[in-house]
Amino acid sequence: MRLPSNALRLSCSRRAMASNKRSARQRQRAVFEAQLGDMSDVFSREERRQERFEQRKEAALRHKACESKNRYATRLEAEDAIAACAAYGRVGLTCYRCAHCKGWHLTSHARA
Ligand SMILES: [Zn+2]
Repeated sequence: MRLPSNALRLSCSRRAMASNKRSARQRQRAVFEAQLGDMSDVFSREERRQERFEQRKEAALRHKACESKNRYATRLEAEDAIAACAAYGRVGLTCYRCAHCKGWHLTSHARA
């Protein structure tokens, strides 16, 4: 049976559109994959990214807890400094042994 020419044209153009869509998707996928580059090292890249993040976090914590503070060689020196501060009205300070530099620093945070 012969299809009316309208219907035939329609079905042809639909088929053409579908195949255009398919090839467009294939092109998009090729572009996408080209941008990704080699995926085989994606896990090691993610690991390195995590490491850099941890290092920056560690550096920021070290700066806050150690490098930005006065360092005292002994607990006694730190306690002298606390007493001196108290004499000037700065109370509530305690000291802690620094895990980074093994010296002593003052803090206003209560430590357990
Ligand atoms: Zn320190």
